Amino acid sequence: MPTKWYESEVISIKTLSPQTKEFVLKVSEEEIFSFLPGQFVTMDLPLGEKRYQRWRSYSIANAPNQKNLLEFCIVRFEDGLGSCYFHDVVKKGDIIKWKGPDGGFVLPENNTGPLILISTGTGIAPFRSMLQDLFSRDAFIPPIHLIFGTRKEEDILYGDELEYYSKRYPEFSYSITLSREKKPGFIHGYVHEVYMNPDYNIPDDALIYLCGWSKMIDQAVELLLLRKKVRRDQIKYELYG
Ligand SMILES: Cc1cc2nc3c(=O)[nH]c(=O)nc-3n(C[C@H](O)[C@H](O)[C@H](O)COP(=O)(O)OP(=O)(O)OC[C@H]3O[C@@H](n4cnc5c(N)ncnc54)[C@H](O)[C@@H]3O)c2cc1C
Repeated sequence: MPTKWYESEVISIKTLSPQTKEFVLKVSEEEIFSFLPGQFVTMDLPLGEKRYQRWRSYSIANAPNQKNLLEFCIVRFEDGLGSCYFHDVVKKGDIIKWKGPDGGFVLPENNTGPLILISTGTGIAPFRSMLQDLFSRDAFIPPIHLIFGTRKEEDILYGDELEYYSKRYPEFSYSITLSREKKPGFIHGYVHEVYMNPDYNIPDDALIYLCGWSKMIDQAVELLLLRKKVRRDQIKYELYG
């Protein structure tokens, strides 16, 4: 079957942090589209002739229950073609061409084991989709611990939502690490500080999901396998680049 490309309007743009913006696309009513929390789409951006120059993938940051709306959080890289296009060129009312959903970075159906969700920066996007989904349905909620790492307090994404969920759902807790500043209430350092703490227990039936850039994921996989002795099949990751 030929790939279906959608053309969807940007209906809102919001600043989430100094370098990160949220973009919301509206899929037209006539088009049938569904996805699983954790999946991503691939966008065809006007960045060149060849498809490797044009295509960029972005995780869907909201749950599937918001009819025909797709939210993305995109961090701006200095000199990054795609991310600068979003931050500097795209405006409300523009049309984005995209295809998807794709990817197997999803929770197993009927999972009951504890979940440890580890992300840096916009790597939180698929986890936000999963959390929104779990909390919006009458689903069983396993113990969930989300670890979010970023540089400074001002870079924290979805902080209010995480705080709300942690108060509302006793099964959910979260830790935030800041690598570039020391602030009360936050852990100083990288995400690894949290789960490498000798008191941090990773049960045999826990699943560990990692999302972000290769430096964090490579280090985390190595530490988890070699030092925390978790099984390979307990770890799942989504690599942004
Ligand atoms: C599954 C997945 C989900 C992702 N989700 C998110 C998300 O939710 N939020 C987010 O901020 N980022 C996400 N990313 C990262 C995103 O796709 C981009 O890599 C990021 O925005 C940087 O792109 P850029 O164009 O700004 O940077 P660039 O440095 O311009 O490009 C990034 C990559 O694109 C390729 N590329 C670009 N131009 C060329 C060229 N001329 N020739 C060859 N290769 C080229 C290269 O592989 C390069 O490493 C995700 C990535 C993946 C794989």
